Amino acid sequence: MLTIKNLNKTYANGTQALNNVSITLEKGMFGLLGPNGAGKSTLMKTIATLQLADSGAITFNDIDVFKQPEELRKILGYLPQDFGVYPKVTAEMMLTHIAKVKGITNTKERKEYVLELLNKVNLYKFRNRNLGDFSGGMRQRFGIAQAIIGNPQLIIVDEPTAGLDPMERNRFHNLLSELGENAVVILSTHIVDDVINLCHEMAVFNEGKILVKGKPQELSDTL
Ligand code: ADP
Ligand code: ADP
Repeated sequence: MLTIKNLNKTYANGTQALNNVSITLEKGMFGLLGPNGAGKSTLMKTIATLQLADSGAITFNDIDVFKQPEELRKILGYLPQDFGVYPKVTAEMMLTHIAKVKGITNTKERKEYVLELLNKVNLYKFRNRNLGDFSGGMRQRFGIAQAIIGNPQLIIVDEPTAGLDPMERNRFHNLLSELGENAVVILSTHIVDDVINLCHEMAVFNEGKILVKGKPQELSDTL
């Protein structure tokens, strides 16, 4: 369970990006809906320990996120809005490297794990292609593969489907839904339909505040 309490963040230029945000999330897919500038990325980055808040607290199960960022990172999968790739490295090489860093030390085991992962995100046949030659959809699925190495219990996905065609979006969504069965998944987006189709719970975020929170079916009239 992820618990966020009274989170505040004001950037140096005076922009208040988080205004006393409190929220509790259980396992499953949670949608964070809001316009550009609402503060979604700030919230995601803060949970992912990439940025500090001015005040407040975040706990995930027994982990105090601000006091034990290393512990949180061990169980976190984070797919940022924009992520860089090494253009001349193949998908398999990159995932193998990350798997190694994440502690899958046995070479044979690691190879099997990576091939299975590539299969799961539908990139098996592109495993030897350089990441710089991936299409937008392939790149997003690669991002997911990167993020889910080591079975994270908390998965954060920041506006993932920009630039994807409908088929690619579909694939991506199926994959996310599957992940939500075993983890707390937070999906930040400005696409209302995605939240209605995918999430069991959602919040509308604007100007650093949660305006409403509830089940997408119940809130869809107000959106
Ligand atoms: P969203 O992800 O919903 O688009 P952000 O969290 O990126 O929102 O931004 C929230 C607000 O904070 C916006 O007004 C944005 O311009 C501002 N902001 C974001 N990052 C910074 C930063 N590093 N410095 C100053 N202002 C920022
Ligand atoms: P599958 O046969 O496993 O369903 P597809 O052949 O449909 O997979 O392709 C999977 C993904 O790769 C899709 O996102 C598609 O857009 C992309 N893709 C397929 N072939 C190419 C290619 N030759 N170059 C770039 N992207 C491709």
